[in-house]
Amino acid sequence: MRLPTKVEIVEVGPRDGFQIEPVFIPTEQKIQIINQLAETGLKRIEATSFAHPRAIPQLADAAEVMAGITRKDDISYAAWVPNKKGIERALQSGVKEVNITVSASESHNKNNVNMSIAESLQTIREAARLALDNGMKITGSIATAFGCPFEGRVSPQKVQEIAQEYLDIGMSEIILADTTGMANPLQVTEMIRKLKNKSKNATIRLHFHNTRGAGMANLLAALLEGITIFDASIGGLGGCPYAPGATGNICTEDTVHMLESMGIDTGIDLLKLIDCAKMVGDLLRRELPGQVMKAGAVPWAVNK
Ligand code: ZN
Repeated sequence: MRLPTKVEIVEVGPRDGFQIEPVFIPTEQKIQIINQLAETGLKRIEATSFAHPRAIPQLADAAEVMAGITRKDDISYAAWVPNKKGIERALQSGVKEVNITVSASESHNKNNVNMSIAESLQTIREAARLALDNGMKITGSIATAFGCPFEGRVSPQKVQEIAQEYLDIGMSEIILADTTGMANPLQVTEMIRKLKNKSKNATIRLHFHNTRGAGMANLLAALLEGITIFDASIGGLGGCPYAPGATGNICTEDTVHMLESMGIDTGIDLLKLIDCAKMVGDLLRRELPGQVMKAGAVPWAVNK
């Protein structure tokens, strides 16, 4: 197998995970978790979302969270933004990296933001200009890239078109998001090959949800295609808005465990990460989907 020797993990739990928690997580707890995550070796943490507070009430305290965390120089504390207004708020909070999203499925996009894909891309173009003019890094997500809860199959052609649009706008990193966990490894392989073929200059980052248990298999498929940046969430936080009770993103410590046990360097201290996941479970007072936090790490994932 041709596997990369190094992989970067972007922690998205404080955004993708917290936004769907049934109970509002107090701001101090969010800050505590982000500060703890920052001690594990992670270099990128998606810390919050500057969505309209009415759209995502769980993250209405974005400015307070950004002001409250202890920022380390070598860590990028990114934020999700919906539009130009979100970027303005992020700028006021000293955010240097933002992530913006459009869905590859018309009905999902309509359902999410009440706009067509073309309208969303126009909004994104304006927002990106503001971000880039202010020296921010902006990454572009393509939601439901592998399947849509309303439409079913999503056209790889559409995904490729949006990716090209993102590159034309001036983004360098494109995130393929399996928003509701519908991808399978074969599909992942084919999608990455198509995209690499057409958009040669893009850095492709993968965002998997483990909704149907295929998360780690999809990760391996992407690794074999040379992908080296993955989103994951601590403890496996983050459900699916269309499926109550569904599991969330691929779990950060399970992902790091698998990678490190295969000899792939993540730069992350797995034991510290497991402690962090346990702390999150304690604070949220529930059992998280993560498995390594329950089973423990194998020795060769830790001692090297
Ligand atoms: Zn997600």
